[in-house]
Amino acid sequence: VQVHELSMCDAIARTVVDRAAGRRVLSVSVRIGHLRQVVPDTMTFCWEMVTAGTELAGTGLDIEHVVATVSCDDCEAVTTLDAPVLACASCGSRAVTLRSGEELMILSLDAVGEPVATEVMP
Ligand SMILES: [Zn+2]
Repeated sequence: VQVHELSMCDAIARTVVDRAAGRRVLSVSVRIGHLRQVVPDTMTFCWEMVTAGTELAGTGLDIEHVVATVSCDDCEAVTTLDAPVLACASCGSRAVTLRSGEELMILSLDAVGEPVATEVMP
């Protein structure tokens, strides 16, 4: 079991329960950036483990993976990061600005009742 994914699922589950406010949740959509270094299969496994025996048992977890991209201050290229090293894939410069990849947010809850607003995780 990966402690990383486990604690992330635990945080998501607590937020979902809070936002659902007693309504029955059918599924949860989350957006997770590449730099969070989450393995989707492990995430799904941990989600089932964290929610088992709780009011969220059987709730689906849809994971939207976001690639990590940086824009380069030197050559202005926008490139995708594979390794968690902040550098331009075009010219190798370290003078880059992270554009995406650190996301961890609950996009939506499919709950019985009114829709719940997007929740950005701390
Ligand atoms: Zn560059």
